[in-house]
Amino acid sequence: MSARAELVICGAGIAGVAAAYHLAVRQRVRGVVLVDEREPLTLTSDKGTQGYRNWWPGPDDTMLRFVSRSIDLLEEIADETTNLFRLNRRGYLFATAEEDGVERLRSTARQVSSYGMGPLREHSAPGAYEPAPAEGFRDQPVGADLLLDDEALRAFPLLSRTTKAALHVRRAGWMNAVALGAWMMKQSMAAGVTFVRDGVSAIDTQGGRVSRVRLSSGASIDTDRVVLATGPMLPHSGRLLGIELPLFHELHAKVTFADTLGIIPRSSPFTIWIDEVDGFPGGVHVRPIDGPRGNELFFIWTFHTEPIQPVWPPTFDARYGEVCLRGLAAMAPRMSAYLDRPERGYVDGGYYCKTTDNRPLVGPLPVEGAFIIGGLSGTGIMTSQSAAELLAAHVTQAALPDWSNAFVPTRYDDPAYVEQSLRAGALTGQL
Ligand SMILES: Cc1cc2nc3c(=O)[nH]c(=O)nc-3n(C[C@H](O)[C@H](O)[C@H](O)COP(=O)(O)OP(=O)(O)OC[C@H]3O[C@@H](n4cnc5c(N)ncnc54)[C@H](O)[C@@H]3O)c2cc1C
Repeated sequence: MSARAELVICGAGIAGVAAAYHLAVRQRVRGVVLVDEREPLTLTSDKGTQGYRNWWPGPDDTMLRFVSRSIDLLEEIADETTNLFRLNRRGYLFATAEEDGVERLRSTARQVSSYGMGPLREHSAPGAYEPAPAEGFRDQPVGADLLLDDEALRAFPLLSRTTKAALHVRRAGWMNAVALGAWMMKQSMAAGVTFVRDGVSAIDTQGGRVSRVRLSSGASIDTDRVVLATGPMLPHSGRLLGIELPLFHELHAKVTFADTLGIIPRSSPFTIWIDEVDGFPGGVHVRPIDGPRGNELFFIWTFHTEPIQPVWPPTFDARYGEVCLRGLAAMAPRMSAYLDRPERGYVDGGYYCKTTDNRPLVGPLPVEGAFIIGGLSGTGIMTSQSAAELLAAHVTQAALPDWSNAFVPTRYDDPAYVEQSLRAGALTGQL
């Protein structure tokens, strides 16, 4: 079979599906074909904790503004769909038992506030702090609340009595990314997008321009525009065009755990202990799954940050569930009740596909007609909308937002930029 398309998107994770939605539905591009060897959203995009936050500490305001734009679009879709993907606004809560932890929270919050997160409010007595609702996202405060000493424990009694402060970032929470993706797929197909279940095995060029996408089944699609959205397979896809992409990978796991003892309140925010525990760096996270009912939790602790070559299926450290439980017991001591029991939860996860500045790659590639949306790291759900909107602007040659240069692959052609990004580091903004 040989077919013709105006544009072929390779990969139907959140990046490819959001790209299809922004191109076909919002920009009315016709003749879009979306190709994936798997069912949409079944490789990485359904494996995460699906959180979002307008919290990005540096090195400047670029990522904070980029994520904030994405949250604007997520809220728009939530309004349009009567919130079918259950975007909530419970916030991210960063807690510490260390004096210098309090100072770190305060100074980072001031910095992120100066980038546009919203105001920082400090509370050392009851009264002004407004807790977040378990469901819904409208009419909530922005910025962050720094709860000091007893005020942190009064608002969040699950925390250890040693807690000195908890910072509640308010334009944050989580969603059901699979429901969001399914809605974008449906809208895209209604706007004329065709989904082809096949692998992309080669991309032909003619006169330096994309001319054809070849599929593993032997079929091919004639096209002069292709978008690479293949997540952790992007380095391989880039090589189909003779391009080495500036990407690497980290493997990250999460635990799905039945809180049968009902220790973590079902209305909790995404709660993160920023202190080291037993030699492991700070950052163990916990959140309830879904809304106020049920008893399942997600745990995640992203201490495995060494670059790794993706292999499938990924294998995870057999002790990961226990390590997370021990970390959580430092933050919420009642969780230690599980250490005497056999349950360690179900572990899965996937690869963060990253750049050295931990910013996505969105824009044209050096082969004419080829584009990329990827390198979405641990934030691809929350940035999916602004990344796809930006990709669509590049493809349709519309006006680009002022942050577009921060995401184009050519930024790595500038040695000064490379040096500056290496100084900030690939863990910038990673929790
Ligand atoms: C443990 C964990 C926790 C996370 N938590 C969060 C979070 O709280 N918030 C957040 O915003 N993000 C989070 N993320 C990150 C987020 O999940 C990713 O950034 C995002 O899913 C990446 O989407 P993608 O579309 O680029 O890649 P993928 O979802 O991997 O999709 C790529 C697609 O390309 C297809 N493909 C690859 N090669 C080919 C080929 N040759 N032919 C056809 N198809 C191909 C694959 O089959 C796949 O469907 C987390 C990730 C992990 C692993």
